[in-house]
Amino acid sequence: MTDHAHMNCEALLGSLSEYIDGELSLELCREIEKHLAGCENCRVVLNTTRRTIDLVQSPAESVPVPDDVRERLFKRLNLDDYIKPNS
Ligand SMILES: [Zn+2]
Repeated sequence: MTDHAHMNCEALLGSLSEYIDGELSLELCREIEKHLAGCENCRVVLNTTRRTIDLVQSPAESVPVPDDVRERLFKRLNLDDYIKPNS
């Protein structure tokens, strides 16, 4: 199983959290970025995951997401505690 040249969607999504966390080697990051450049599906997953992580990691920051969307997302993530009427 030497599939270094072309990462497939399954492999990419399996490493996605490490990629976002910056835990992958430069070489693997390049492979992922190469795949992302040609795969809209994985781009969407990456963007959604990043946004979710941003929301979770910085609930105090102002996030350009409508309140109802945020509320729905947080409910799905069972993070109701983060939903506060912050003026
Ligand atoms: Zn893909």
